[in-house]
Amino acid sequence: MGRQETQTKEMHATWVEINLDAIRHNVEATRKRTGAQVMAVVKANGYGHGSVAIARSAIQAGAVWCGVARPEEALELRNDGLAAPILMLGHTPTGLMRELISKDVSIAVWTSQHVSMAENAAAGTGRVGRLHLKVDTGMGRLGAEPEEALTIARLIGGCRHLDFEGLFTHFARADDADLSPTERQLDCFERVLSAFEGAGLHPRWVHAANSAATLTLRRSHFDMVRLGIAMYGLRPSHEFALPDEYRPALSWKALLTRVVILQAGRGVSYGHTYTTHKTERIGTVSVGYADGFRRQGGNQVLIGGRRVSVVGRVCMDQVMVQLDEIPDAHVGDEVVLLGVQGQERISAEEIAKRWGTICHEVTCGISARVPRCYSL
Ligand SMILES: *Cc1c(COP(=O)(O)O)cnc(C)c1O
Repeated sequence: MGRQETQTKEMHATWVEINLDAIRHNVEATRKRTGAQVMAVVKANGYGHGSVAIARSAIQAGAVWCGVARPEEALELRNDGLAAPILMLGHTPTGLMRELISKDVSIAVWTSQHVSMAENAAAGTGRVGRLHLKVDTGMGRLGAEPEEALTIARLIGGCRHLDFEGLFTHFARADDADLSPTERQLDCFERVLSAFEGAGLHPRWVHAANSAATLTLRRSHFDMVRLGIAMYGLRPSHEFALPDEYRPALSWKALLTRVVILQAGRGVSYGHTYTTHKTERIGTVSVGYADGFRRQGGNQVLIGGRRVSVVGRVCMDQVMVQLDEIPDAHVGDEVVLLGVQGQERISAEEIAKRWGTICHEVTCGISARVPRCYSL
């Protein structure tokens, strides 16, 4: 066991380990496979992996942009000294536009009101407000209607303090086996783009692809792809397998904090939904629902390289496990909630299925109180 590993176990009850080499590898694999420029999407604390460390690793590996969803996320990167271009992909509250522009953060807009708010905010900052016009080609979430896009782009072009830096859209179904809905969105986006070109408007960065489209539709690449879930080595959806070369970066661990033999008939955890039916070895693990480990049945974890079942209700800060198959389990043993131990592995996909969700929600749901530890 390495020194760092010993320290982690001595310092934390539960923690996440992130292999930054896997992040760099996944960015490089994407660049090699597609030849496209990459925007590293690091919103939501880098899908739970930690935004600053992920952004830096992605840039090291050749990503040229970072994408975020909230102004605070953009400012966190800038305040940490990240110099790369950053795009605010989501809604920017008016009150924060000036600060974002003064910190050189590019902003997504889709209404004429956004444009005039950005022009007002940029005036007096001494900087140009860089805007990416978002078009709703079928996601039904954010963006200008395709037929309004040109009018809004011309408005941007007419503003003294604004730069029409980009044009983009977002796909609703790029992870479907059937690519035709995505191709229809692409057709729509290309019609908008040719109207722009006809009008002499040439946004420098045209972009559309999320991870799934990056891997399936070359026609969606344009000037850059926006790489989120695949950069973390995780599947866009249960039906969408990543190419073998992608590696998951995140493991989630905790400690075995008690091992006890309980006689038959003893209740375990709140509500006694589990009762020992014979003499049983029961362990306590230092992770709970407040850490993002969900309070529902069917959870498993790895101890001593074997799978064991969580028994009884998940508490706020701990869970109990059935250890009859692990006679040499000891207090202080490392417990793997997500990741590899010995020959066994629990993937984010497995947990996502168990919890009836997708792996994005599993890693985003690991709460802020769980420290993120990085290996280079
Ligand atoms: C989150 C997000 C992405 C990244 O999507 P993945 O499926 O995780 O690759 C790309 N673009 C926008 C606008 C997003 O919100």
